[in-house]
Amino acid sequence: MSNHLPPRRPFRVRTWLLSVTGLVLVGSLMIWHTQVIELLDLDSSGDKQPVVAGAPNGEAPQPVKSQLTTPPPTPRPKPKKTPSPTPTKKSTNSRASETGGYSEEDINGLSSKLRTRLKKAISAARADGVRISITSARRSEAKQRRLLQEAIERYGSYEAATRWVLPPEQSAHVLGKAVDIGPQAAMTWLNKNGWRYGICRRYDNEPWHFEALTTPGKKCPPREAHSGATAD
Ligand SMILES: [Zn+2]
Repeated sequence: MSNHLPPRRPFRVRTWLLSVTGLVLVGSLMIWHTQVIELLDLDSSGDKQPVVAGAPNGEAPQPVKSQLTTPPPTPRPKPKKTPSPTPTKKSTNSRASETGGYSEEDINGLSSKLRTRLKKAISAARADGVRISITSARRSEAKQRRLLQEAIERYGSYEAATRWVLPPEQSAHVLGKAVDIGPQAAMTWLNKNGWRYGICRRYDNEPWHFEALTTPGKKCPPREAHSGATAD
């Protein structure tokens, strides 16, 4: 009758013991597991997360440092400079840039000697009621080359053209050592009075063309027939 009860106690006890044993075993396993993890993952001191469990396929666990430190901000790609469209419009100062920043009509592009003398002559002419205008002072090589080409087409040959326009290598305008002036009254005045300032008309065929050919106050040298007269 009651002898079926006693076996139940031991059964309960066994069950309890089994449970306790199981708990102890599980606890031991967990401790062992933790120790194994610590042994295997020496660098992860302080990080008790079982990272091994997250790597079931033998993959290397994620570096712990990346979890401890905030990841560096992803560098934003630098915006690429979009190249500005190539200006197709030709600069209005292109002619000036060819002569070092001076336009052809600007006496500041001339040599200091001719510029200084010319300023004095211009002032003296103004005092006489004559206005001297600069039509061409310093020219770029490119401009001189264009002028020569145009002269060749107009006069029919290189030789005929160089009576009026010299090639860039021989042109005093390219060196800033010659000036063309106008109008006619200014040419006449400077041809008559230029020697006082060391400025002389050089060619018979170019009444507008002047250079600093003499010492101020001294007589000008004899004129040449044309520019091609001394050229080869
Ligand atoms: Zn000239």
